[in-house]
Amino acid sequence: MNDCIFCKIVAKQIPSKLEYEDDLCMAFHDINPRAKTHLLIIPKKHIETMKEIGVEDEALLGRMMKVASDLAKKFDLNDYRLLISTGKGAGQEVFHVHLHLLSAPV
Ligand code: AMP
Ligand code: ZN
Repeated sequence: MNDCIFCKIVAKQIPSKLEYEDDLCMAFHDINPRAKTHLLIIPKKHIETMKEIGVEDEALLGRMMKVASDLAKKFDLNDYRLLISTGKGAGQEVFHVHLHLLSAPV
């Protein structure tokens, strides 16, 4: 087991406010929300950044986007942003790919 905090959430070794889970991904509330609704959609598989995405991950990324769209509906969001920070310079802090779903206006 690596030291990745999101892998620990996937393994249920640390708690999260879970909103969704399936065979490929999970969605939970960001611990430090930057909008009224701020969810993170993550792959269960450990992938450090978007730079490591391979052709085998196409279905996984599609699933994450669909889950984000479904959760936006569930939370009644009309306007929202989907964001994946990639690399330290872009503000990535957790090196396990995650899609931010942020309600707007923040
Ligand atoms: P990023 O800057 O794109 O890497 O975003 C990492 C996000 O993960 C930040 O918004 C953090 O607030 C969030 N985060 C870090 N640890 C946890 C945790 N244990 N549970 C939920 N969200 C977390
Ligand atoms: Zn991980």
